[in-house]
Order: sequence, then C-alpha cells, then structure tokens
Amino acid sequence: MSSLLKHSTSSTKADQSLRFVSIGECMVEMAPTINADEYKLGFAGDTFNTAWYAKALFPSCQSRFVSRVGTDDASDKMLDMMAHAGIDTEHMLRSPDRSVGLYLISLNNGERSFSYWRDSSAARQLADDAAALKAATDDSDVIYFSGITMAILDAKGRETLLDTVAKARADGKTTVFDSNLRPRLWDSPKTMCDTVMRASAVSDIVLPSYDDEADHFGDANITATRDRYLATGATTVIVKNGEGDVHFTHGEQSGHVSPPVATAVVDTTSAGDSFNAGFLVSLHQTGSVRGAILKAAQVAGHVISQKGALVPLPADFIGT
Ligand code: ADP
Repeated sequence: MSSLLKHSTSSTKADQSLRFVSIGECMVEMAPTINADEYKLGFAGDTFNTAWYAKALFPSCQSRFVSRVGTDDASDKMLDMMAHAGIDTEHMLRSPDRSVGLYLISLNNGERSFSYWRDSSAARQLADDAAALKAATDDSDVIYFSGITMAILDAKGRETLLDTVAKARADGKTTVFDSNLRPRLWDSPKTMCDTVMRASAVSDIVLPSYDDEADHFGDANITATRDRYLATGATTVIVKNGEGDVHFTHGEQSGHVSPPVATAVVDTTSAGDSFNAGFLVSLHQTGSVRGAILKAAQVAGHVISQKGALVPLPADFIGT
C-alpha cells in the first residue's frame, strides 16, 4: 500500500486508504460544567485528539492509537470510548500496576488552568517493549508522535521510540512529528530542545506552532522555525501560528497561507491537534499542500468555536 505523499505535487486518488498510527498519551479529563464544583468526565490528549480527528474526517481510514492503559475501570472506559469512536485499539497494551493519567480544568473568570496527575501513568511505559512498538507500527503508512510523547518516556523509552520511528521511515513509511513544547514535562529546557530536534531528525513532516518555538528556541521569526526543522532533514514543515499566517515548505514548494478569520474563539484546546489531522488527511487525499493547510485551518477554526478537545465536525468536512 502506498504511503502518504512526502513532497510530491501530483494528486492521489481520493479513495486511497490510509493507515494512520498515532503514539502518545490519552488522559481522563475532568471539565467544569455550568454548575459550581461539578465536573464532566471525558478523555483527551494531544496525539489521541489527532487520531480522533483523523478518523472523524476520514471514516474509512484506519486510525490506530498506540499507548498503554491500566487494568482498572477508568482504563476500560477509555478503551470503550476509543472503540466507540472507531479508533483501532488492537495495539494498546495494559500495565497491571498503573492506571491512566488525569487532568482537571479549572475556570477562573473565564481563564482556564490545568492540574495534571500523570507522573505514573501507564502511558509512560508505551515504549518499554520495542517489539510491541514495532508490531504496532509495521502495517501503517503514517506514524505520528509529539514532543509530549517524547516527554513522558524515560531515557530508554525515548531511544526505543526514536529507533522505531527511524526504522519505519527507512522502510518507506511517512513519519510525522508535532514538537508540542511543554517545558513542565521535561527535566530541563535543554533536554526538551535537544530531544525535540532528535525527534525532528527522524521525521518527514514536522508541524510546530510558532509562539512556543520562539519562546523556547529563540527563533527570530517564523521562517527561522521552519528552517531549523528543515535543517534536520524533514521534507515538509508546516508552522502554525494561531490566527497568523501558516508558513510552509513542502518539497520544492514554500510559502504561507492565511487561515480563515475565526468567527468566534470559545476554547482553543486542540486547535493544533485538529489542524494536524486535517492537514495529514487532506494532503493524503489531494496531494495539495496549500489545500491541505486551508482544510486544516478550517477544521481548527471550527474546533476553537466550541468547547472541549473533541468537537463533532460538520458533515461537509467529512470525506469518505
Ligand atoms: P497550538 O494549538 O498547537 O498552539 P496554534 O495556536 O498555532 O496551535 O493553532 C493551530 C491552528 O489553529 C492555526 O494554525 C490556525 O489555523 C487555527 N487557529 C488557532 N487560533 C486561531 C484564531 N484565533 N483564529 C483563527 N484560526 C486559529
């Protein structure tokens, strides 16, 4: 089966199937309701959100999530939710002595803040078994992971994941990385930046967001972010920038695309995650990088107009 186009300008067939594998952590989410001190239980996490949106946008694709959960009720509920959304959970492993991570959203005068309980989540062991990780990615076209995926692993797990992704890329699979910089998850800014650049070096497509990159890498402008990732050997770099222009290089093509002006910004959770799914699915279906960025921005624009990480999409966004 053919892989997602790395930097071709020719079109792929709209009905071409896609086997997408996303690796990372999904957590229990406790979100405030309109009633004081009442919370709604949900599930979310950056790489999981992208797998969810890929499936929502392209229902006939295989969207697999690779992680670990525990053996308790909360873990079972998470797997049920994934299966209900059509996510392939065949390669989810169980850690008997651990459970899933959790975060709680607090609202103070409309400002959201997050508290996390994820230090000993099962997902931190997702790369403990190299053979299982390889098996989970072997029958895929596209492998997706993030800076958060790298952050939650121990040193050995990071090496295993980087090695697995590098070998998959050498095998012809398309490897995709969102740097998703979260300094609180790392022991030092240097470890974060060094590891993120190593992850980029095993990736064909890199999907950073400019404001975080400028903060942590000191990039003078958005093209400096793009060029820094291109220098690691990526052939496609798409730099998101909130409401600002998205700057890209895709093979021989470079330029920028203005996202449509958002009518209402209610909650920016998952903007980047949904953008990434829209971009990858559309690039796979059409081969047009500009079209894929516009589609991605349209999806993200819809997602930020509603509350929550996983927002149902209008029927006209959805392909076959
Ligand atoms: P992240 O969520 O990773 O920080 P960004 O904030 O850069 O990523 O947003 C990702 C994408 O979501 C942007 O490239 C854009 O397409 C869309 N987006 C985010 N915020 C806005 C906004 N205020 N208006 C319009 N589009 C937005």
